[in-house]
Amino acid sequence: MHTAMFKAVPGPGGVGQPVYTGLHVIAGCMYSGKSEELIRILSLWKHTGIDIEVYTHGSSVQTGDGFLKSRAGTRFPAQLISSLREIKWRRNGGQRIIAIDEAQFFDEAEAPIIAALADRALVIVAGLDTDFRGEPFQLMAAVLAMADSVTKLSAVCARCKTPGATFTQRLINGKPAPYESPRFMPGDADLYEPRCRRCYERPPRVDDKNVRLFELEEV
Ligand SMILES: [Zn+2]
Repeated sequence: MHTAMFKAVPGPGGVGQPVYTGLHVIAGCMYSGKSEELIRILSLWKHTGIDIEVYTHGSSVQTGDGFLKSRAGTRFPAQLISSLREIKWRRNGGQRIIAIDEAQFFDEAEAPIIAALADRALVIVAGLDTDFRGEPFQLMAAVLAMADSVTKLSAVCARCKTPGATFTQRLINGKPAPYESPRFMPGDADLYEPRCRRCYERPPRVDDKNVRLFELEEV
């Protein structure tokens, strides 16, 4: 149990107002169990009768038939959306728990929507923190910065088989995808594997002036 989340600041108070508000973020690479962790937390609240709303991006390959599904097989009813604006605002709707999975797919410009929701509801966001290039997904970077509490998960490295893998390597014909490869590419174990920092092969960004300067200083 993540006690930090349950210490989230009290809501505005008054009749019909939420008791719990705040933002909890679950971040990690692929195969780190983010959806399982989200489903686990939601399961803790299920018996309370509090409204639980689960949203996931329409691009998610893990969601089908209206359910958020973990790789372990557990599932939770979910709504597929393409914009966080589709999460309806309630002027006086009482306690809500709003879960957002696959948050890396949402536009960075919508981060303020999550901040506003977290003032009025308990919001739990799960998503990939970095892409195959090792660079942050901007929406995730924003919510990680704004969070009251964070769970950062890791996987077991597909190459050296040790725990603590925090990178997502994209493979094309068994070789690391080049930097220029599209940022979003649907796929599963055929295309992605978790790797630790030692085994991760960072796609070189040859046009990056800052990286070149860094390398020069190292010599
Ligand atoms: Zn490794």
